[in-house]
Amino acid sequence: MIPKKLSLEMYENFHKMFSGSNENTFKICKECGGACEHNKIGTLLPGEEEYMAEKMGISVSDFKIRYLDLLKMDDGTPIQVLKLGKLCPFLNEDEACECRDFKPIFCKIYPVVFTIKDEKIDFRIDHWCRLSRKKECRLYFGTAIPLLSSLEIPVEWLKHVTSYDDLCFDYDQLEKYRRRKNKHAAFSLEELLSLKKVEMETTNPYIEFSPKVEESVFYIKLGQSNLSAGRQLS
Ligand code: SF4
Ligand code: SF4
Repeated sequence: MIPKKLSLEMYENFHKMFSGSNENTFKICKECGGACEHNKIGTLLPGEEEYMAEKMGISVSDFKIRYLDLLKMDDGTPIQVLKLGKLCPFLNEDEACECRDFKPIFCKIYPVVFTIKDEKIDFRIDHWCRLSRKKECRLYFGTAIPLLSSLEIPVEWLKHVTSYDDLCFDYDQLEKYRRRKNKHAAFSLEELLSLKKVEMETTNPYIEFSPKVEESVFYIKLGQSNLSAGRQLS
């Protein structure tokens, strides 16, 4: 399956409209120490590499070589991901994101994550993230989900993402393994899953959580064909 690319205008519009981060969330992330930067595979939406390359003023092929790897799903679906390894290639020495204004949308909306159950997409907040316990998360729900809903991302493509997105990998091994490959390395799903950690980390090793949730959790149920029917349930 070759997914239809989202237009550059859609990406531009998303970044103009979405206001999930603010001084408060930056402060919380700083206190957390950027745990998600060390433990996540960063997935780009279809066509997002073209948008980001344009924002940086470089060619798409240069962008791929410098920042991306490729996951090939069993049916041949290609998924562009931020270079696999311990740290994101956009994280600079000050632990700041160098593409903050045009970062991948899945980075931008985190801790909003999704699962697919009974052919429906459920958005939820990842409680692994410290922001999930804070009132500031309301901002993410308030703007991210309706905007995501308008992007018409195919459910089939999202299903592929769920086959690895919430797993925990041995990032040291992943980094060593990818050194044998090209600069824009291609991984089959099987190869990637072979580097999965046997023991899943259910807690964030970088921070201590209070069990108290400051705000209630929301669920969104969406239609089957795409993300076109998002609505807040509680
Ligand atoms: S895990 Fe959550 S709180 Fe920590 S840096 Fe990432 S988004 Fe911020
Ligand atoms: S692109 Fe930016 S926000 Fe996303 S993982 Fe990398 S440093 Fe973090």
